[in-house]
Amino acid sequence: MDPRIKMWGDEPYYGLGYDFDPTWFLSDADRALEAEIIDACQRVIRPLAIECDRTGAYPRASVDELGRLRLLAMIAPEGYGCRAASHTQVLMATEAIARYGCPSTAVIFMMHLVAVGGLVFRAHGNPAIESLLRRMDTDALIGTASYTDPETGGHFWYPKTSSATRVADGWHVKKTAAFTTSSGHANWYLTQTTSPDFSGDYSDLSVFLLYPDEVKGNPDTWDAMGMHANQSAPVEIDAVIPENRIVGWPGDGARSNDEAIDPLAFLQYAGAYNGVAMACLDVARRHALRRGHAQYGRRIADYATSQDSYGEALCEAQASRLFAYGMAKAMDDATDGGSWEMYANDPDAAPRSAFTAWGLEAKVLAAGLASRVSDRMLQLCGGRGYTRAGEIERLVRDAKAGWVMAPSNEVSRQIVGRWALLGVESVDWWNQKVDERALRNELGKLDAAEKQQLVDELSAELAGAGD
Ligand SMILES: Cc1cc2nc3c(=O)[nH]c(=O)nc-3n(C[C@H](O)[C@H](O)[C@H](O)COP(=O)(O)OP(=O)(O)OC[C@H]3O[C@@H](n4cnc5c(N)ncnc54)[C@H](O)[C@@H]3O)c2cc1C
Repeated sequence: MDPRIKMWGDEPYYGLGYDFDPTWFLSDADRALEAEIIDACQRVIRPLAIECDRTGAYPRASVDELGRLRLLAMIAPEGYGCRAASHTQVLMATEAIARYGCPSTAVIFMMHLVAVGGLVFRAHGNPAIESLLRRMDTDALIGTASYTDPETGGHFWYPKTSSATRVADGWHVKKTAAFTTSSGHANWYLTQTTSPDFSGDYSDLSVFLLYPDEVKGNPDTWDAMGMHANQSAPVEIDAVIPENRIVGWPGDGARSNDEAIDPLAFLQYAGAYNGVAMACLDVARRHALRRGHAQYGRRIADYATSQDSYGEALCEAQASRLFAYGMAKAMDDATDGGSWEMYANDPDAAPRSAFTAWGLEAKVLAAGLASRVSDRMLQLCGGRGYTRAGEIERLVRDAKAGWVMAPSNEVSRQIVGRWALLGVESVDWWNQKVDERALRNELGKLDAAEKQQLVDELSAELAGAGD
């Protein structure tokens, strides 16, 4: 077998070959792993993507493949029997699962690995976490990050309807989550609540590990436009859990977001939605080469307008992919190839947080790309693309999830723009900073009597606060 030819079972791949992949970012070992993932996609994950999109069934056999490939705990250190994977490998694996296999499974993998990041960040010295990481691949233990609060939506770092209290020998954790991928199917859950000593500061967060008997999931109730198989339904938690199931320590949640949850989420958003865009290009290529028009003796691919549309979409995809791989490479350089071991000696180390703005940009680029490219490739495929037989309509529906997933592209762009224009201090993740300009502008609209009324109201409020 010629390793320069991308295979799909016994045949050359019908989509774009390796000459359109940024292979120079990958080592020989990375490329060998990618070939294994493509093989698993061809045999198991892609057929299940089609079936589970129709039935809404959870793709458990695909998850088992991820365990077999040792991807579930891939970022954990070798000391736990894991791959100690780089950011580049995580990006490659996520893109490959979405592209050759199943976008729903890619999001299952993403929400899982984000949660694994939270665990690995504080694994050192916690037997409950260390034991889970050791068993994760062999037992195919799929996890998930149950974060989004029903009241604060896509600002997932702002958990209003949550709490944790210290009880004898453990913690009483309460949480409602509006969306949780693998709801009711996960083997373990990572969740974030306000801290046990919470006093109104929403940046005071804590992270907990829970098991299915402590979580009320809603299996098989997910009913959405796309991503049918990923079961991103609500979750409720009202459980007392042992002491060592806090991940890190009370108040460590914001740091966990900055250094573990967000970096992996942004990297994998990029992988998943760049992968969806590439899947659209692959499927459209197959159709454009097969479908001919008798009146002209030409195929869709032979029209100059198709070539222009395809070329434009590919150029946009390559820019987003290079952005993501460039970021992954920089993160690898900053972490000795993706190591998580520095936090054992230095819990405040923050090499990954340095890439937050880049991560937001990578997410915006990839989610926007998938939305636009899927739309254009459906049009390229014509009415046959609109039918289920062509596969592209499934990808169009799946692609739309990226834009709205948190932080949505609107929220992400606003954070990046604000940060760039006004500095990082102005980002104000937890709505704590007074906008003096807006405040003075509004006060300027009040007449003397209205100002006096406001003064009276504020005085009464202050007097009440002093009681
Ligand atoms: C397929 C899928 C899987 C998911 N999996 C998980 C999971 O595993 N775990 C998890 O915790 N969550 C998960 N989520 C939730 C997801 O990450 C978002 O939190 C959720 O989609 C937000 O939805 P919402 O309706 O509450 O949006 P809202 O936050 O209500 O946003 C609605 C609209 O308002 C806009 N908007 C919001 N705030 C602002 C603002 N300040 N300025 C300007 N515009 C604003 C948004 O851009 C959007 O257009 C998943 C969601 C989907 C679709």
